[in-house]
Amino acid sequence: MLFTEDFLHYIWKFRLFERTDLQTTAGEAVEILATGTHNTDSGPDFGNARIKIGDTLWAGNVELHLSSSDWGKHNHSKDQAYYNVVLHVVYRDDEPVILADGRQMPTLELKDRIPDDLYNRYHNLVYGNQTVIPCEASIGKLDEFTLRTWFTRILIERLEKKSAAVITALGLNRGDWEETFYQFLAANFGFKTNAVPFELLAKSLPQNILAKHKNNTLQIEALIFGQAGFLNEDFTDEYPRKLKTEYEFLSRKFNLKPVDNHLWKFMRMRPLNFPTVRLAQFAALVVNSSHLFSKVLDIKDIKSLQKLFSDVKVNTYWDDHYQFDKPSKSASKNMGQSSADLLLLNTLALFLFSYGKHNQQQYYIDRSLKLLESLPGENNNIIADFDSLGVKANSAFESQALLELKNYYCNYKKCLQCSVGNKILKLA
Ligand code: SF4
Repeated sequence: MLFTEDFLHYIWKFRLFERTDLQTTAGEAVEILATGTHNTDSGPDFGNARIKIGDTLWAGNVELHLSSSDWGKHNHSKDQAYYNVVLHVVYRDDEPVILADGRQMPTLELKDRIPDDLYNRYHNLVYGNQTVIPCEASIGKLDEFTLRTWFTRILIERLEKKSAAVITALGLNRGDWEETFYQFLAANFGFKTNAVPFELLAKSLPQNILAKHKNNTLQIEALIFGQAGFLNEDFTDEYPRKLKTEYEFLSRKFNLKPVDNHLWKFMRMRPLNFPTVRLAQFAALVVNSSHLFSKVLDIKDIKSLQKLFSDVKVNTYWDDHYQFDKPSKSASKNMGQSSADLLLLNTLALFLFSYGKHNQQQYYIDRSLKLLESLPGENNNIIADFDSLGVKANSAFESQALLELKNYYCNYKKCLQCSVGNKILKLA
């Protein structure tokens, strides 16, 4: 048989082994009253188990190994954390474990107690041929209820992990939600490729400086393009020349140092995604909306949230430019619906969740989930792969759950910790 210790944990946890006439390897009767609580940290594998061995009821820990000799290999006899192990559960008993006081460790061997059909399903799942994910032959046949309930759990897991980064940044910003939101929003304006320079730009240009010039659009644009490092050269067009003049004055006034211009990437990008276009959109948003995070908290309907981004009009200079001094065919550079939706998904939903979690206000967590349910699912290779297996992402809620599933479960074959895997294994 080929399996990992995780499978043994799984069998023990759900009592999936043959349980008639259980005995220790020394021949004492074993009755399992409670298998205990699974411990995924260091220390014994299950805590607070209750096991009757012979006539004695024991309460304590249970340790599992593929072979009983692993006890010695892992030096458990010398580790105080293992002194309260009341039962050693092993697949194979290849040598007795003798404790410091000379007693033999009570050991339960499961070698002949694992049902063949369970093992075969496990083996097919984890070690079978696959092109996309281990359960690709079965996931499409799973009932909707199991799948959608599992989606909710892993989506919350994903949001909790991501909100930890928000809370760390909030601490660095001395509890200032507006500033933290502004920094994350800027990073998401970079849409992965330019996330780093966008984030550096926001951190180098705090909102209190922008707020001082909020009534002067040209100065806001100058601060943003100048801090991004795009106003270092000599220009022909009047608009960038004006921006440059403004920035030279403002950067001296606030002692600003621009970010390194080389960090911005243009290669292999559609011109509409050029960082210069994204910066123009970001500047327009800053001009339009002060205290943006407070607005996000206040606005309840999704259409109005979408409008916060889709209604933003960039400077008309960009109507026929993608970069300074390079005229191009006329095309709108205002933010498209799909880009606006991505910002809602990656920033607004995350911040509503983080704010609700941090302040223990379920209302905002619910709004975050509702927002994700209302946004369309993303399009990428992972979502397309699941689609080809019959699992459709009907919303951003589900596409985000599928990304979490693939990246943190399927890729690591954590099928025993996944509701889909559990269902497949337990199907008779
Ligand atoms: S982790 Fe879950 S969804 Fe992914 S392959 Fe395993 S059983 Fe399937």
